Amino acid sequence: MNALNVAKFGGTSVADYAAMSNSASVIKGNSDTRLVVISACSGVTNLLVELANGVADAKKQQDVLAKIADIHFSILEHLPANAAVDIAINDVLDEVATFATAAATSPSDRLTDSLVACGELMSTHIFTHLLNAQGIDAERVDVRQILKTDNVFGNATPDLVETAFHAQGVLRPLCDVKVAVTQGFIGADNDGNTTTLGRGGSDYSAALLAEAVQATSLEIWTDVPGIYSTDPRIAPAASPIDEISFSEASEMANFGAKILHPSTLVPAMRHDIPVFVGSSKAPEQGGTWIRDTAKQSPLFRALALRCNQTMVTLTSLNMFHAYGFLAEVFNILAKHKVSVDLITTSEVSVSLTLDQTNTRGGAPTLPDGAEKELAKLCKVTVEQDMCLVALIGNHMGESRGAAAKIFGTLEDYNLRMICYGASSHNLCFLTSTNESKDVVRALHKELFENE
Ligand code: ADP
Ligand code: ASP
Ligand code: MG
Repeated sequence: MNALNVAKFGGTSVADYAAMSNSASVIKGNSDTRLVVISACSGVTNLLVELANGVADAKKQQDVLAKIADIHFSILEHLPANAAVDIAINDVLDEVATFATAAATSPSDRLTDSLVACGELMSTHIFTHLLNAQGIDAERVDVRQILKTDNVFGNATPDLVETAFHAQGVLRPLCDVKVAVTQGFIGADNDGNTTTLGRGGSDYSAALLAEAVQATSLEIWTDVPGIYSTDPRIAPAASPIDEISFSEASEMANFGAKILHPSTLVPAMRHDIPVFVGSSKAPEQGGTWIRDTAKQSPLFRALALRCNQTMVTLTSLNMFHAYGFLAEVFNILAKHKVSVDLITTSEVSVSLTLDQTNTRGGAPTLPDGAEKELAKLCKVTVEQDMCLVALIGNHMGESRGAAAKIFGTLEDYNLRMICYGASSHNLCFLTSTNESKDVVRALHKELFENE
């Protein structure tokens, strides 16, 4: 099989002309790179989400639109004039304005997806133009013809069979003759409506497309030279990881390490595609390889932090020694499409956190209907403003003294919903948002900086 590398560039890697030029050099550096998946230029998705949530004030709306236009035209200023690209960008900007006006009166998840997709639609026009101007024979593909999903706007699920069919028919033949450039994050449902895979979804798109074109490797180019023992923005002493296993890296992604969208490694694991994470600004610094198995499997590997958690506690004396209570609770949650993340139980209460990946962001909420039905069964308490800290490692449950070391370090903090033992790869708990970064720093110092 011929080598085919898929390279994904995140928002900061296509933020401006300089960043796009660095990314172009990375593509030039690997002749196996035939498919390029990119995000919106840095900051654009946030501006689009703001419009999607409804900006009623006309002047404010104009300001946001002007900012979005400026980000794109200031990159084009550095490139040879190209009327077709200018027209394409102006067309998308017109769409943004129309959608923004509609969202100001009646925002919806469907409208949000059409609006936020415009970021990737514009960045791919410009980046393809830049690659061609730099002598790389590149062609832009609208990924909505390839990546098919269901119609859960804001958090769509890909249709793997349809996606593979279109990728094999359209994308793969193009990759054989040119460098194909396409959008991360977005897709389309069966009716052609634009959908998104949730914030940060470009990583997941790249992995899905790598799987669909049967790529032999996937590179995720971002603003840090690889995966670190924790977010270096939180703990500057964090150290880079050379090689990590799929299972450890997926736990990290799942538990909030922003470096990878939670689902990114699922397609890579299915097809055993090795994944590299590196910095497009400093590719010479190397990065992290994520593979089926890593040569080393340390007891403590990394710490991840995920904020905006919602914790729901259900309390009822009827739970005591009864059967069927939890089944009833989960039936109600399933009926209202509430996805549960963590869960801990006692004799008379059960606490759970709600899953959240939706494009519109914010803390997940318990739908009113679900809360009312649960309230007939038990007392319902909803708490927000919490963060989930996860320690990822290997065989932690079988290691004597690990728990003492961890909890001894955190004796001054209030920890909630401790989950330990369900997986030998992680231990996690909730803290208040205020204390969360201090907790990560304290644990990192104790477990990763003392060797
Ligand atoms: P991109 O726009 O390229 O997708 P993101 O901002 O989504 O980039 O992800 C990169 C960021 O992830 C880094 O700047 C860093 O702050 C954060 N991050 C979180 N956890 C880690 C980690 N364990 N290692 C490295 N970076 C991490
Ligand atoms: N542009 C989208 C976001 O900011 C997707 C991505 O960057 O991965 O969430
Ligand atoms: Mg990202």
